[in-house]
Amino acid sequence: MRCNICDEPTMMFMNEKQQMLYYHCSNCEYIFKHPSVYKEINDQKERYDLHENEDDNEGYRAYFKRFLDFVLSLVQKPKNALDFGCGKSTLLASMLQEEGIDCDYYDPLYHPDGLDEDKKYDLIVSTEVFEHLQQPKEVFESLLKRLNSGGYLAIQTEFHPNEMGPFMHWYYTQDPTHIVFFTVETFEVLSTLCQCRLVDDNGKNIVVIKKK
Ligand SMILES: [Zn+2]
Repeated sequence: MRCNICDEPTMMFMNEKQQMLYYHCSNCEYIFKHPSVYKEINDQKERYDLHENEDDNEGYRAYFKRFLDFVLSLVQKPKNALDFGCGKSTLLASMLQEEGIDCDYYDPLYHPDGLDEDKKYDLIVSTEVFEHLQQPKEVFESLLKRLNSGGYLAIQTEFHPNEMGPFMHWYYTQDPTHIVFFTVETFEVLSTLCQCRLVDDNGKNIVVIKKK
């Protein structure tokens, strides 16, 4: 199977414990589960409904604060922003509003009417979304189109260890709705392919990309 990111051939491997097939691209380090386990988005809702993310949850606020502290230190103050794939909660959008940034939010399951096709943004944030996507490159490109030139795309998704042993025991693959996995290198390759620039990463789960 070819890599969905860079189109190079991939190598198949089996996680024996999970009895699940994966594909690894040695060019861009992208890993994805065999497509037979991908579910339609509506079948995933049950799982998402279990996510505990109430707006008044202090832990959740602290979690987003770490994300925003990293991202906002790297970008020129945006006038407006979009939270793409916010889930049930609009907390991250509210926190951006508190920073004086006009923020829209969109989620295909919980807030499907939040996208204006013609509107452009200075900043798009997307946390814990990309690991769920069957076609991350297409979504990445569509988000770049929604950015003003010089705008930023900030993505949070856990980077995989890129070593077989640790990968086999990595907790992040155990969620059945997590189907594709990235490293910083994957986002470097993707950024080069899409003529944008990876500005920085936190070595763990956040990349910030700038549109030319
Ligand atoms: Zn690749």
